Amino acid sequence: MTEIFTGSFTQQEPIPEAGIEAALAVMRHGRLHRYNVEDGEIAETALLEQEFAALTGAKYCLAVASGGYAMGCALRAAGVQAGDRVLSNGFTLAPVPGAIASLGAEPVFVEVTAGLTIDLDDLTAKIHSSGARYLLLSHMRGHICDMDALMALCDAVGVRVIEDCAHTMGAAWNGVPSGRHGIAGCYSAQTYKHVNSGEGGFLVSDDPDLMARATILSGSYMLYHRHLAAPGPAHFDKVKYVTPNVSGRMDNLRAAILRPQLAILADQAAAWNARYHTVEDGLRGTPGLGIIERPGPEAFVGSSIQFLLPGWDDDAVGRLIARCGARGVELKWFGAAEPVAFTSRYDSWRYAPAQSLPQTDRILRELIDMRLPLTFSLEDCAMIARIIRAEVSAVYQAQAAE
Ligand SMILES: *Cc1c(COP(=O)(O)O)cnc(C)c1O
Repeated sequence: MTEIFTGSFTQQEPIPEAGIEAALAVMRHGRLHRYNVEDGEIAETALLEQEFAALTGAKYCLAVASGGYAMGCALRAAGVQAGDRVLSNGFTLAPVPGAIASLGAEPVFVEVTAGLTIDLDDLTAKIHSSGARYLLLSHMRGHICDMDALMALCDAVGVRVIEDCAHTMGAAWNGVPSGRHGIAGCYSAQTYKHVNSGEGGFLVSDDPDLMARATILSGSYMLYHRHLAAPGPAHFDKVKYVTPNVSGRMDNLRAAILRPQLAILADQAAAWNARYHTVEDGLRGTPGLGIIERPGPEAFVGSSIQFLLPGWDDDAVGRLIARCGARGVELKWFGAAEPVAFTSRYDSWRYAPAQSLPQTDRILRELIDMRLPLTFSLEDCAMIARIIRAEVSAVYQAQAAE
């Protein structure tokens, strides 16, 4: 019997009923803009920021229009200027170099390891060769590097770290929430991340001056006192006349949808990890397939899974993807020559100076990525693993026989 999977890899769960109710209330009163409040009313957006600050343990939180906006805003508020070089991961998603380029700054890409995290040796080398003073660190696909080692390395040479936590909302390294290691953490509330308001983002930090600048940048006008998770007025006095408005605010409708999702984030993370482990267990021991082992100090959220096909040639990878696709299992390959859908590679970002990352090239040619939406049951995940295992075995054996 040939099993075929019929679920959708892009189908999210519905918005919790409490979020739908709260969204209807906002639409009924019509005050969607975050600063449009009645006397004594506290906006959904301000409450959301307060709740997200509490969740991450940050002093301050700003809700914005997208994860990409949060990164650009954080870099600018941290002092990055046009022409500056900013280090970042060679393996990440397009909004990351895009945020750097949006300031007229120049991305400098760092190699990835086989564990899919930033290569700390190459980071050290690139810090020295580039002279960059900032690192936009992307926890791509939820893989967190040794944050203690990374922070020690960056602190020693005065490189400021801003974390891209689009795939690590709810995750931690050594008990410290992702986004709380560097000077600022950026998160996404886009449909394919860990909370879903269609579009949306968060910026957290303990630095009051950075956050005052970020708040003015986001388009607060002189209404920043309506925030509940912002620094005090003295910090705004220093920056309010010299910080441009680059509107990118969150609104009350999206905040209303998000608040009940924050309340269940830990349960959702556990549900994702149950799915992740089911697939991982099903794939373990498949000849020709390399599991990516997760380090002990990493508390991850398994909203997607990656594995390696060590030594495979491009044709064999292509055959595997086609065969799994024919059985309803959608795999993404980061080695494809042309960018496909959400998947692109550093050499596709040609607004950045051309760079060569041979180690990253080698790893991405072997790297397969798969989403695990929460609409999949554990039985679905077990079936998906069986299909991948069977197809990997078939293609691998045919390859070996050639
Ligand atoms: C999705 C994503 C972002 C931010 O995305 P937005 O769509 O701008 O919210 C940032 N980094 C990574 C790695 C992402 O996947």
